[in-house]
Amino acid sequence: MQPRDLSAHTPYEAGRGIEETARELGVDPEDLVKLSSNENAWGPSPKAVVAIREAAAAVHAYPKASHADLQAALADRFDVADGQVWLANGGDGALDYLARALLAPGDEVLVPEPGFAYYAMSARFHHGRVNEYPLRKAEDFEQTAEGVLDAYDGERVVYVTSPHNPAGTEMPPDEVRALADRTNDDTLVVVDEAYGEFSETPSAVSLLGERDDVAVLRTFSKAYGLAGCRLGYAVVPDDWADAYARVNTPFAASEIACRAGLAALEDDDHVERTVEGARESREYMYEHLDCPTWESGGNFVLAEVGDGTRVFEAAKREGVIVRDTTSFGLPECVRITCGTPEMTERAVGTVNDLL
Ligand SMILES: *Cc1c(COP(=O)(O)O)cnc(C)c1O
Repeated sequence: MQPRDLSAHTPYEAGRGIEETARELGVDPEDLVKLSSNENAWGPSPKAVVAIREAAAAVHAYPKASHADLQAALADRFDVADGQVWLANGGDGALDYLARALLAPGDEVLVPEPGFAYYAMSARFHHGRVNEYPLRKAEDFEQTAEGVLDAYDGERVVYVTSPHNPAGTEMPPDEVRALADRTNDDTLVVVDEAYGEFSETPSAVSLLGERDDVAVLRTFSKAYGLAGCRLGYAVVPDDWADAYARVNTPFAASEIACRAGLAALEDDDHVERTVEGARESREYMYEHLDCPTWESGGNFVLAEVGDGTRVFEAAKREGVIVRDTTSFGLPECVRITCGTPEMTERAVGTVNDLL
């Protein structure tokens, strides 16, 4: 027997792990600089690490209180009702819940191209069909309501990434409002703010008080440094917040993830250090990379290096792992995650030598 026809489904290509690459090159992982997956170069929140240790002794029980407490803490932060926070196994898990809640078989979604691969994957898992809207390099990947609406054809879900991965551009809440105003009443605009903490642009959560057709995605994987815990969430309109209980996988966020998230939320120092470090790293890259870059609202910079795959392969042999953006449809670029000053300087020096 066979699974259902999965020929339209493409596997997610994650940036290579540091241990895999070290094994392949026959070197010590300590000697590698990994700036390919937009992970937090300053590590996890130290408070989260303590919370994870403490949670270890309680993992025989289902995570009930911690899940409710984290929902409440996030709801408080965004000034929404607890039920409007849909915790999930990573931001990706929250995208799945939105697709489960919104899509009937054959419904269409609209995704940015280039863009984050999981929007389309998630829609297809849920028997949806995928259309694309372009972000154009010639327009510096600018994100406007008009640009999305040019491609919009009544899709059920429209995905906006702000700050955008991999380009770094943003769509401020006024522009999201303009977009949502002109899409159909039953079209949901999902604003993916996976990198929102790194940006000075206000969150689109501010729109949720006035409308029922915008949802916002957030994650603990980036600024909070908890990518390995798998913890993210959607903030959804009050009107249909109760759909969560009908679509979620029971206890979708683990006890360890919820405890880590609660502690990380309290650790302002760690977030500040991370955001400030990322800002310095971005500035260094704009200034010192000998190739075109784009200003980024995230913890990464897109750089036009000519042949992204060649630079990626050659940099890897020098122990510096960047992201080849060929799978994003940008074979002439690489994406470099922000790192500590030492990491950033080594990455920039290595890439410059290869140009
Ligand atoms: C990293 C990322 C996410 C979420 O990642 P998780 O680790 O699943 O939380 C979502 N959207 C974009 C654009 C991302 O880069």
